[in-house]
Amino acid sequence: MKNLYSDLDAKNCTSEIDLRVYTSNLLGQDDTLVLHGGGNTSVKSVVNGKDILFVKGSGWDLVSIKAEGFAPVELKALKDMAKLDFLSDTDMVAKQKEAMIDKTAPNPSVEAILHAIIPFKFVDHTHADAVVTISNSKDGIQNIQKVFPTFLIIPYVMPGFILAQKIYEMSKNLDWNSIDGIILHNHGIFTFDNNAKISYSKMIDAVTKAEEFLDKFAKLNLQDYPKKMIKNIIDFGIEIINMKGSNSISIKNQSQIAKNFASQKDLKTFATRGVLTPEHILRTKRVPLVLKEGDDIQNEIKKYKKSYEDYFKKFAKDEIMLDSNPNWIVLENFGIISLGKTQKEANIINDIINHTIKAILQADMLGGYQSINLQDSFNMEYWELEQNKLKS
Ligand SMILES: [Zn+2]
Repeated sequence: MKNLYSDLDAKNCTSEIDLRVYTSNLLGQDDTLVLHGGGNTSVKSVVNGKDILFVKGSGWDLVSIKAEGFAPVELKALKDMAKLDFLSDTDMVAKQKEAMIDKTAPNPSVEAILHAIIPFKFVDHTHADAVVTISNSKDGIQNIQKVFPTFLIIPYVMPGFILAQKIYEMSKNLDWNSIDGIILHNHGIFTFDNNAKISYSKMIDAVTKAEEFLDKFAKLNLQDYPKKMIKNIIDFGIEIINMKGSNSISIKNQSQIAKNFASQKDLKTFATRGVLTPEHILRTKRVPLVLKEGDDIQNEIKKYKKSYEDYFKKFAKDEIMLDSNPNWIVLENFGIISLGKTQKEANIINDIINHTIKAILQADMLGGYQSINLQDSFNMEYWELEQNKLKS
């Protein structure tokens, strides 16, 4: 992985925030590190004598974030929140907002408390493909330990307050100088330093290590798919295209990797093993619809919706059920279709899927792809913060 930091460009940064914007944009430029709103960064600074955490605001992408995209929150208020026994994510968001010194700034990232308890000026967080690929495999725990012996490794916990609380508890007796970063299983990676360049470079170096591990043990041969692919989508029935409404958008993906993915054995099991990093579930749902040659399409759609409704009923308390149609479809020996209500939504799903299918193919070479379980998937997909948006 290329380190994009340029001392010459960094010289144009006249403040800590400028520098934070600069290295955040560098992280965002690499879609194997973060995709569409994924990841977050922060810098701790002093304003009018008070310690302030400037953390990525929600709604901003790292690739294009500007100074006004960072939410300024009182550091002490965030650190105090980490000590609470319980805090709902809704209350966390409200308390974070109260502690902002500029109420016109965007809402702070839900990971703000976590950024606050890391005692370094610059904190960088990504969902690096290479790291989550290793983590989302059967021997993920051992392999992550092998690749990252100097990192604090955290078992999977839902993002938001309980993740911050978990890291607060696990780091109570930790000498922060003794670790190079944090790995969040099935989720991503944190690096930090008092120097922006070093924090960013630690991220690049760590992800490079993960990439080298995959190159050694999970190198893909994408040529490896049956040459006799189905030529026409009509063979599957055109009705799937309008599944998200009559003005919906579908993107046909017949890249080499999409074809490879769609021509695997036991496709219905193979392709339905969960998301690469938890927040993807909000875009893609947990699993695609898989259609095999000769399937009764209407019947398969019905089965997909029924299975989604069963999953919802199994875990739901008072949540509102989301659309039970799939957001992507794997067509055997053809490729992949991403479905969105708008072009933008379809593009985002298509991008996420391209990264996910590569990770699944690679993780299988490490013993088998394994994502978060159904309960954790549900908790993320029906996160109260997402449900609040629907209920209001
Ligand atoms: Zn994250």
